[in-house]
Amino acid sequence: MPTCTYCDRSLEAADLVRHESGDLLRVHCPDCHSMLGTYREPGRF
Ligand SMILES: [Zn+2]
Repeated sequence: MPTCTYCDRSLEAADLVRHESGDLLRVHCPDCHSMLGTYREPGRF
């Protein structure tokens, strides 16, 4: 289970804010909107 490194909140995968652009998936914290990660294959996340 991921934890936001900025606001220290424990997050469920379903809680994360996702933005897909092309073949990249960017994942943000729903609270502080910090970028938590970038994934190359959205289908696998
Ligand atoms: Zn956060």
